[in-house]
Amino acid sequence: MPKAQQTVLEIDLQALKHNFEYLKSKLQSNTKFLAVVKAFAYGSDAHKIAQFLQELNADYFAVAYTNEGVELREAGITKPILVLHPQTVNFKVLIEHCLEPSIYSAKILNEFIDVASKENQTNYPIHIKFNTGLNRLGFSQNETDGIVSKLKNTKVVKTKSMFSHLAASEDLNEKDFTISQILTFKEIAKSFEKGIGYKPWLHMCNTSGILNYPEAHFDMVRSGIGLYGFGNSEKENKNFKPIGTLKTIISQIHTVKKGESVGYNRAFKSDTVLKTATLPIGHADGIGRQYGKGKGFVTINGQKAPIVGNVCMDMIMVDVSNIDCNEGDEVIVFGKNTTAENLAITAETISYELITAVSQRVKRIFT
Ligand code: PLP
Repeated sequence: MPKAQQTVLEIDLQALKHNFEYLKSKLQSNTKFLAVVKAFAYGSDAHKIAQFLQELNADYFAVAYTNEGVELREAGITKPILVLHPQTVNFKVLIEHCLEPSIYSAKILNEFIDVASKENQTNYPIHIKFNTGLNRLGFSQNETDGIVSKLKNTKVVKTKSMFSHLAASEDLNEKDFTISQILTFKEIAKSFEKGIGYKPWLHMCNTSGILNYPEAHFDMVRSGIGLYGFGNSEKENKNFKPIGTLKTIISQIHTVKKGESVGYNRAFKSDTVLKTATLPIGHADGIGRQYGKGKGFVTINGQKAPIVGNVCMDMIMVDVSNIDCNEGDEVIVFGKNTTAENLAITAETISYELITAVSQRVKRIFT
């Protein structure tokens, strides 16, 4: 790759292929693979990522909201798309684009049946979501009979899958809790299947679930973060390749005298002579203010340069006192060596937040 001349996010599609194949290698051959491409494919570019994964034969896609699914359809994605958090106001548009809703409450089940029936649908595929412990979205176990009787009395929709979401699949200290979620899910599935009279697909595992709970792979798994290169543990991270490298350049180098300050609010005051580099990347590009004041860092010519003072909207200043560097030199914010996870930890957050925060004005380049 040529050296960066501006702030860019490079996306390595071969790394994506590697991650996809690694995750697939953990599955039985008949287990389907749903690729989670919500939030702009975790900041990478949903169109390109979904197109590439469609070519690699991913079976399903999931997005959070209807508009994300519409964009994928418009970009030529023909595989089924599950909308994890559809809003009732968008049901008509969802149907027009053959998107498949997650149905998580009696209210939205009724409203979806209403809209689908007005649109003259029969057997429209829906995915029934149960809450087994995350306490976020989903029917509770004791609502099973009610949903079953509703579903049995309509030809408008057909349950293609029944699913749930794990709360702590990456945390082996919570193994007992996760196993209890899996057992509850199996129990619900049993009575749900008996009630509706057929077996919908079952799915429960996210990336860490795939890696840690093979007994819960069921008919399909739903992976996001693993595709983008993170295994959520030191051991598993080695088996993944981060697909994104966020790069920028040095705009200007300053000498800061002892007693001078750097940046807004004079949040940093130097007690020595310092060399700083100003970089064209700030909180409007996805590097939040929590990375400022020495917490976060970038890599310049192989060396760590801590962020000095407050993060500005379009710029950060980093300490390069001990680094041999010049205006125009390339800067790595995160990538394959210093990963998004390494940087996220400095701000007490997670790779998910950092990678999805890279804003749309940052040019994406595919390699
Ligand atoms: N399934 C659901 C319902 C989700 O909300 C998510 C992501 O938040 C995933 C699967 C993918 O999780 P991960 O990125 O940990 O693989």
